[in-house]
Amino acid sequence: MSQALDILRNRFGYAQFRFQQQKIIDTLVAGQDALVLMPTGGGKSLCYQIPAILREGVGIVISPLIALMQDQVDALAQNGIRAAFLNSTQGVDQQQQVKQLLRTAEIDLLYVAPERALGDDFLQTLEDCRIALFAIDEAHCVSQWGHDFRPNYQKLQRLHESFPDVPRIALTATADKRTLGEIEQQLQLHGAARYVHSFDRPNIFYRITQGDNGRQRLWNFIREHHATDAGIVYCLSRKKVETVAAWLREQGRNALPYHAGLDKTTRAEHQRIFLQQEGVIIVATIAFGMGIDKPDVRFVAHLNLPKNIESYYQETGRAGRDGDPANAWLAYGLQDIITLRQMMAQSDADEQFKRVLHHKMESMLGFCEQTGCRRQTLLDYFDEQLAEPCGNCDNCVDPPQTWDATEAARMALSCVYRTGQRFGVNYVIDVLMGHARERILQNNHDQLSTFGIGDLDNNEWRSLFRQLIALGYLYADIDNYGALKMSPGCKPLLNGEQQLRLRKFEKALKPKKPAASKSRTELCAADTPLFDALRLHRSQLAKEQGVPPYVILHDKTLAAICDLRPESSEQLALIPGIGARKLELYGAELIRITQEYPQQESSLAEASES
Ligand code: ADP
Ligand code: ZN
Repeated sequence: MSQALDILRNRFGYAQFRFQQQKIIDTLVAGQDALVLMPTGGGKSLCYQIPAILREGVGIVISPLIALMQDQVDALAQNGIRAAFLNSTQGVDQQQQVKQLLRTAEIDLLYVAPERALGDDFLQTLEDCRIALFAIDEAHCVSQWGHDFRPNYQKLQRLHESFPDVPRIALTATADKRTLGEIEQQLQLHGAARYVHSFDRPNIFYRITQGDNGRQRLWNFIREHHATDAGIVYCLSRKKVETVAAWLREQGRNALPYHAGLDKTTRAEHQRIFLQQEGVIIVATIAFGMGIDKPDVRFVAHLNLPKNIESYYQETGRAGRDGDPANAWLAYGLQDIITLRQMMAQSDADEQFKRVLHHKMESMLGFCEQTGCRRQTLLDYFDEQLAEPCGNCDNCVDPPQTWDATEAARMALSCVYRTGQRFGVNYVIDVLMGHARERILQNNHDQLSTFGIGDLDNNEWRSLFRQLIALGYLYADIDNYGALKMSPGCKPLLNGEQQLRLRKFEKALKPKKPAASKSRTELCAADTPLFDALRLHRSQLAKEQGVPPYVILHDKTLAAICDLRPESSEQLALIPGIGARKLELYGAELIRITQEYPQQESSLAEASES
């Protein structure tokens, strides 16, 4: 058995390497560089943790996720691996202690924030140490086009310049081809072996719902699929975060707001409750999430359009890290598109930058409006091909109905034209519907040939306009109070040279088929009492040690205990997630509790039938 596998089994309690973990580890152990792209929950941490243990010296892990460092160090300690972190939350004394551990090589891993890693003081300390490797986590932060840009990341090649012989590994879960190239460029990783794993998160069900009244749609979705589950709801503005959180509380859910306008203590407290209690919903701006490593987030909902597919993918990727079924749900309407376009137009970035942002936003809109498999499009965006539709997204399970919208679209466009391209959506729809409002009469727009034509209702017209804007036939002029303007692409449609099929308006009904609805690791009813008892025990341990429950043992591990009913520590050692140290610390008690809930005949029969 290789040394790496030995550590995987005995320290971490896992039987096999996943994906390319073994190869990546071998590369580093051999002293070579690696560039790793693996989806969230794929198991990136082990790729540098195991080589750091195997190589002489300390592995230095650069991470922007200060909030996460404590968790990671705690989780390693649970497996008997010595690690520490260095960041701005520590006092001078604490930092000195950590540096001492570093000098005397009493730890295998050190997590450090980029600002600190680049300080002269730290670099000086490193001169006196043996360094096993540099791991640059969340490496996409180097990209200035990206959503998590950290200027300090662009200076990290300094580490390499100072310590050219130390192998490096850069890791990310979110990078398109261009970003990967940038990482390689900026970090001078030209010779690095690339390990690009599939981006797919097969356990996540993608659903996007179009139309207004997103909040009610959200509630229908939560009530139906996640009545007691933990989840994250993303909103664009702080105000909306507050109102949605309050509203969910009125519906009886424990929902907490999180945004940059709250003071630090409140934010930390809300995050702590979300991590440590079961079934909490966090309603947040995108300020929340970097560094949230909670494995059992069962849904991520968006009440606004994310700016681009990378953000969407990263945010939704926080669901279902444990591999169990999870939902990514998004609602958006006409106003969202207009707002997003406005924000983009008003940004004072230079033209080239704006073009990139604009292009990324168009891809996001296209993704929302498409009628084919979502997963195929998502993966395609990251240059990955999925041969068959996935069967686990809304469009696959519930194919959207389309209609021939050519005639209606022509009416809509010509109404925009005849009213002089000076009015917003609501006005134009009023004209189309023949509402003789005062302003319309004043402008004599009741005399137009498009006044009161067509037989669509208000929602259907809004749906049509949303799609015309999303598809680029129309745009809202920001300098002109959102007046609708026609783009050159309208011509073929108006001339009758082009046909247009669009999605039918979706009423805010319950989805016909359920999305992922199994909320927990599958358990048969007979196992529930044991599972609950194990969970209670875990909560007590977590409380005593001041760490989140999943740092002690994952739900998956508890479920496996229920399933296999180990009677001895040899048997318990076979359960995934139980390494030598957890066996020693918790084994006896886990076995004792298991014996208190003997498996019943009937449940054995049930199990063998299924
Ligand atoms: P990432 O950083 O890629 O999002 P993590 O490194 O946090 O993912 O790993 C996600 C989960 O998968 C963790 O609970 C980890 O312990 C588990 N894991 C990693 N590698 C393996 C493996 N080879 N076998 C079983 N579980 C694994
Ligand atoms: Zn699909």
